[in-house]
Amino acid sequence: KSGFVAIIGRPNVGKSTLLNRIVRQKIAIMSDKAQTTRNKIQGVYTTEDTQLVFIDTPGIHKPQSRLGDFMVESAYSAIREVDAVIFMISADQKRGKGDNLIMERLQNCDVPVFLVINKIDKVHPDQLLPMIEDYQTCMKFTEVVPISATEGNNVENLLTTLEGYM
Ligand code: GDP
Ligand code: MG
Repeated sequence: KSGFVAIIGRPNVGKSTLLNRIVRQKIAIMSDKAQTTRNKIQGVYTTEDTQLVFIDTPGIHKPQSRLGDFMVESAYSAIREVDAVIFMISADQKRGKGDNLIMERLQNCDVPVFLVINKIDKVHPDQLLPMIEDYQTCMKFTEVVPISATEGNNVENLLTTLEGYM
C-alpha cells in the first residue's frame, strides 16, 4: 500500500511539528531533490507494507487576491493529485476565515479528508466535541482525529487510520 497525503491548514497549527514527529519516529527519507514548485515532499513514512508520502501545500491558506491566485491555484492542484488530505486545525483556536476558505475548496474533493485537531494538550477534553460539531456543520469529514504533535498523543492512530484508506 502507498499513497500521497497533503497536509493543509492555517499557519502555526502544527503541520511541520507533525511531519517532524512522523519522520523522527519511523525510518524515513527527507527529500529535497524530489521537490517541485507544486508538491513539496516533506517526509516519507514507511512500514513493512505501507508507504505514506506527506506533502506540503504552500500558500493554500492565503486569502484570494489577484497576485495570490496563482499560488493558491497551484496548491489546490496539488490537492487534486493526492490520495488523502489532512486538514489540520488547532484545538486552542476558533474557526476563522482561513479555515472556512480551505473547507470551501475541500467540499468537492473526491479523496478522503481527515479533520486533524492538533494541540489537544492545550485544552480540556470537554472542549473538543463542540469544536468537532462546529466544523462538521461546514463539511463532512471521512474521520476526525484529535492529536498532540508535540506530545505524540494519538499520532500512531492517525497513521494507522490513514493506512486504512490507502
Ligand atoms: P505550522 O505553521 O502549521 O507548520 O506550525 P508549526 O509546526 O511550526 O507549529 C507552530 C507552533 O505550535 C510551534 O511553536 C509548535 O511547537 C507548536 N505546536 C505544534 N504542535 C503542538 C501541540 O501538539 N501542542 C502544543 N502545545 N504546541 C504545538
Ligand atoms: Mg510549517
